[in-house]
Amino acid sequence: MAQVAHRVRIAESSQAFEVAAGETILAAALRSNVDLAHDCQLGGCGTCRIRLLEGAVAYDEFPLALTPEEEAAGYALACQARPRSDLVIRPARALAEAPEPARHAAVVRAVMPASPLVTRLVLDIPAVERVDFLPGQHMNVIMPDGGARSFSMASKPGGNRVDFHIRRVERGAFTDLRLSCLRPGDVLEVDLPLGAFHFHAEDDRPLLLVATGTGLAPLKSMLDALMDDPDCPPVSLYWGTRTAADLYIRDEIAAWKSRLYEFNYVPVLSRADAAWPGRRGHVQDAVTTDLTDLSEHAIYLCGSPEMIASAKPSFIARGASIERIYSEGFLLNNRGTSRSVD
Ligand SMILES: Cc1cc2nc3c(=O)[nH]c(=O)nc-3n(C[C@H](O)[C@H](O)[C@H](O)COP(=O)(O)OP(=O)(O)OC[C@H]3O[C@@H](n4cnc5c(N)ncnc54)[C@H](O)[C@@H]3O)c2cc1C
Repeated sequence: MAQVAHRVRIAESSQAFEVAAGETILAAALRSNVDLAHDCQLGGCGTCRIRLLEGAVAYDEFPLALTPEEEAAGYALACQARPRSDLVIRPARALAEAPEPARHAAVVRAVMPASPLVTRLVLDIPAVERVDFLPGQHMNVIMPDGGARSFSMASKPGGNRVDFHIRRVERGAFTDLRLSCLRPGDVLEVDLPLGAFHFHAEDDRPLLLVATGTGLAPLKSMLDALMDDPDCPPVSLYWGTRTAADLYIRDEIAAWKSRLYEFNYVPVLSRADAAWPGRRGHVQDAVTTDLTDLSEHAIYLCGSPEMIASAKPSFIARGASIERIYSEGFLLNNRGTSRSVD
């Protein structure tokens, strides 16, 4: 290891580790076998948020998933932050009791167009009776070059069949070239379940769910798990897409009203044509127009990192608690870094 520059202690635990000159907090923690929740490692998803109780950090580039308001309130992103002094930190969120990830052979059950850009992929995992995951988590598809592509589970846990909503990225190795050739019976190598984005059952306040595009997928998994549940809190779902044609599974969503408690659904189009009778603009702006007090909501944001970066400060300005905004940015994947999950 290069010369030790600073020491990091985790508050209320006996854990501590040393950070070499130029190293990030997360890299040093993982090198020392200290388990800090993390995901994209690019400063885009916000999973590795920590609270700085003592000391100071610096960034090469201010990360997308941290707002200046969060920084001022004492938060930092461990994957990008480099200590400027010894630190005492507290992970902003405890690691949830997520099932252990494992590598599986997944058999394609169905590949169906859901909209001009989105494909619904249904996978069976025959080696297990039940695929365990927390609603909100994702899988990684392992590519022939060893790289990985992440997709969120869109169905609730139960049985060994799982649904995905996959947006085509033009010329994308998986979402365009590979997906368009997949047929029932084909086999994909996948790692699951992964990720720290998940439904927090302990936070039982009214739900505000905000998605762009296929960011709907993990939120649908959460809602599927709440359907017909007598303890379901009131649910508001704001879904932003470009055009009306991008609003896939719209018939399914219309049927949720009778199975969720006080379900308020607001689709918002950023490039609507003249015929669209509904809301227009950015989905996060529709939320702040409708809801002036967000202090009593559990908030889940998923999809474009830009939407999440814009939503957080304006939601916080309306009383949302920084600690209780759960988010997952659909960043470009970490190339060539399929995680090892023996
Ligand atoms: C935790 C997580 C969960 C995700 N869940 C979903 C999901 O449920 N559904 C879904 O549709 N997507 C999801 N994504 C995004 C998805 O992983 C990427 O779109 C996918 O990896 C693209 O792979 P590809 O092989 O087709 O493209 P690549 O061959 O890897 O890339 C082709 C080109 O497109 C660019 N590109 C790649 N991805 C994107 C993107 N998302 N946006 C814009 N440009 C891109 C690349 O930079 C490159 O130039 C998720 C991402 C993360 C991190």
